Amino acid sequence: MVEITPEIQEQLDEQKKNCIFCKIISGEQESKQVYQDKFILGALDINPAVKGHVLLMPKEHYPIMPYIPPETFKQMFGQIAPLINAVKKAMMTTGANVFIANGGIAGQQSPHFLIHLLARENGDGLNHFSFDKKQHIEEQKTKEANELIAHNLPLMLRNHFTRNPAKWHTEKNLTIAKHLQEINKQKQIVYADEKAIVSVAQTPQATGHLIVYSQEEEKYFENLNNESAAHLFYVASYCATAVFEGLGAHGTNIILKTGESGDNKDGKLEIHILPRYEEDGLDLLWKPMEPKPNLDDIQSKIKDETFLVEYAMKEEEKPRVVDLDKDIQIITEKKTKKTEEKEENKTDNKEDEISEAIKQLKSE
Ligand SMILES: [Zn+2]
Repeated sequence: MVEITPEIQEQLDEQKKNCIFCKIISGEQESKQVYQDKFILGALDINPAVKGHVLLMPKEHYPIMPYIPPETFKQMFGQIAPLINAVKKAMMTTGANVFIANGGIAGQQSPHFLIHLLARENGDGLNHFSFDKKQHIEEQKTKEANELIAHNLPLMLRNHFTRNPAKWHTEKNLTIAKHLQEINKQKQIVYADEKAIVSVAQTPQATGHLIVYSQEEEKYFENLNNESAAHLFYVASYCATAVFEGLGAHGTNIILKTGESGDNKDGKLEIHILPRYEEDGLDLLWKPMEPKPNLDDIQSKIKDETFLVEYAMKEEEKPRVVDLDKDIQIITEKKTKKTEEKEENKTDNKEDEISEAIKQLKSE
């Protein structure tokens, strides 16, 4: 994460004044809103690439991904799974894309960080994300780049887990999922943990082109829980930082493909990290759909589905009502269980601390 110095803050404040997306969020500028929670607002892109093209914007003004603080990151990217589900259902499509541009060279057009969510299906006219054409890239340079990434990426993720410990991350008996064995055979994996692996792309579109795969799900991103969804994007974000810092890329694209579409025939779940360089010849930007679809109609269809996502989010945000008697009962039950298990380590017993605290509260 980038540290925000007073100088940077001053620049950001200046950007915000003229930022159309900040105005959409404040309500000063009209939009076709389809979703809102504490951290993000979703509105239809007014020049959609396909039917069902949603822009997810953080409510705070962050210019690029590395500026997003961890808690916001987790919430934002975790929500992408239920939102893909909602948009696919609303538009009745087989697939979806998430498209992120970091930097002008990658196609970022506004200084407000945005996530494009696209509902995808066969014959929808978009054909930009096959990534199967052989590109002319320097072999030696690419080999060195991959070695550097294979060295740096695991270190970055180790730091990440030190700062954000996860119960599921033990680094013991790590295996590669069955559906990833073909990737495993190619021996180009540069990082692996319990939920994600990263491999060098087989048909790299640029030096340092990486792909993140889920260890839990072969095809459908929306089947992942929010924690797994957010973790895949964490890994993708570190990949982007690794190629940006290590390879001197000028920008990056992060493109998630999930479910069947013309440019994702087998429907596999992949997150591509594409380092971007001046005049790299890559054309990832779409033309707006012609004729423009009926946005009001699309808005109401999507809102019918995102309504439930919003509702679930609000339920989660509600403060829990503490029932002292009930809580003490639960704690006591847990304690008895622990005694039965002959729990020896008593120095770090959270339940004891809590029950002590509650006892004190009650006696006051
Ligand atoms: Zn803004």
